[in-house]
Amino acid sequence: MIQVTYFHHSGFMVETEKNCLIFDYFTENGKYDFLDISKYSSKKIVVFVSHFHQDHYDRKIFDWQKTIPQIQYVLSDDVTPIRTVQNVHKVHFGKIYQIDDIIIETFHSNDEGVAFLVKADNKVIYHAGDLNWWHWNGENDKFNKGIAGMYKKEIDKMKDSVIDVAFVPVDPRLEENYILGLDYIMKTIKVKKAFPMHFWKKYDIYNTLQKDERSVNYRNCVVSIQHMNELFVIKEEEV
Ligand SMILES: [Zn+2]
Repeated sequence: MIQVTYFHHSGFMVETEKNCLIFDYFTENGKYDFLDISKYSSKKIVVFVSHFHQDHYDRKIFDWQKTIPQIQYVLSDDVTPIRTVQNVHKVHFGKIYQIDDIIIETFHSNDEGVAFLVKADNKVIYHAGDLNWWHWNGENDKFNKGIAGMYKKEIDKMKDSVIDVAFVPVDPRLEENYILGLDYIMKTIKVKKAFPMHFWKKYDIYNTLQKDERSVNYRNCVVSIQHMNELFVIKEEEV
């Protein structure tokens, strides 16, 4: 069983048997600070930050070390932590890292920082950060083609993986191109459950996705997020 909590924007927590993995926690200046870290002290806690943008990197995460000193931080190397924090692992794209029995592979974001592929308790978790097929209407063809090429190259590196839970941007600002990044992943990699993210509180994106003819072969694997601080229990037979 895996439990997934959606916090806000691209912020999620994944609880496996022994581990608690937190990705891109974002409170939006303290407005949406849902996590009581003391509840998770029986598990190993690892906090991931994919890059320094303020919607992915919130210094609130360092407060948690006052409650749980052994908490670990995996930070993209463009992130500067506060000086007093301990147990920091700075990571660069295109590498494999190990923290005890957790294996972390990093991918090159075509925006900033990294995407993460994490193996923990025999589960495989993908968090894209800002790695996405950013096709902006109004940008020139050369730009959009370059971004698309970088995106496909990184995703193709995972084509032999079986991902239990994937967190993937579906950004409504891209208009009809919102689905491209997710669509490419779902057609390239075996993904059991995909959570949309980076949708700027536009929860309706899930309904749009379900009706989009491009999602016909994988829409059953896409999870409907309805609100912040929402818990999802994923049973063993589903992943
Ligand atoms: Zn972002």
